[in-house]
Amino acid sequence: MNAQTHPWPTAHSVEDFRRNLAAVHRRIADACSRAGRDPSDVRLLPVSKTVPEERIRLAYAAGCRDLGENKVQEAQRKAEAMVDLADLRWSVIGHLQTNKAKVVARFATEFQALDSLRVAEALDRRLQAEGRALDVFVQVNTSGEASKFGLPPSEVAGFVRALPGFSTLRVRGLMTLALLSADPARVRPCFVLLRELRDRLRQEAPAGIGMDELSMGMSGDFELAIEEGATVVRVGQAIFGARATPDSHYWPDDDRAATSTASEQTA
Ligand SMILES: *Cc1c(COP(=O)(O)O)cnc(C)c1O
Repeated sequence: MNAQTHPWPTAHSVEDFRRNLAAVHRRIADACSRAGRDPSDVRLLPVSKTVPEERIRLAYAAGCRDLGENKVQEAQRKAEAMVDLADLRWSVIGHLQTNKAKVVARFATEFQALDSLRVAEALDRRLQAEGRALDVFVQVNTSGEASKFGLPPSEVAGFVRALPGFSTLRVRGLMTLALLSADPARVRPCFVLLRELRDRLRQEAPAGIGMDELSMGMSGDFELAIEEGATVVRVGQAIFGARATPDSHYWPDDDRAATSTASEQTA
């Protein structure tokens, strides 16, 4: 995704951010009314990856209090630079290596990309040392693409059964990235799969494991995700403006350039 193929203008002022946030909230409300849902059941998580501190401060002034970041080091650097914004909360939404668990345990309030017991163990150990707890989402690969992180759907139930052993991890639900396609008929099944998996796991989840949340939907597809039950949408470019960094930086080998017109059609 890049500025050439997407209409999202860069927000340069508090006013710009207010306008973009209002537009996204309006689209969330419209999608909710189509689906017969209450907009207060959908949380907007603004995603600030690649956005520099000065512009994040403008977003804060416009009301953003939760921010999602894909890369741990970038998130940590920003969190340290903006400790003066005491009520700003950081959500790590990208794949984590065990050697970075220590960092996440220190500053993050939420981790949305849990997909291995090794990472769960590393986080739990570090969180205990810090005397902290963390909200977590289990990431599921619903698109079947090799480039996407996350557990295969068939492994999620067994994985979730092991999570009560980690007392510092507050499991909230599931997270996914859909297939990026111009065709809603190919995107929607990813969201349906996650919702059906959540509904099934809700019946059998061990005590203390939350299975209410569904984090799904990004700038290009969040309305579809809401129609299919999203309770958290992770939206970057529609709030901050188009990113110059290609998505292949976050999803290696992803072939989005050829298929990334979905956002233009739904924008
Ligand atoms: C970047 C990112 C998003 C947001 O994507 P946009 O196209 O900027 O809305 C959502 N989820 C994850 C995991 C991301 O890395």
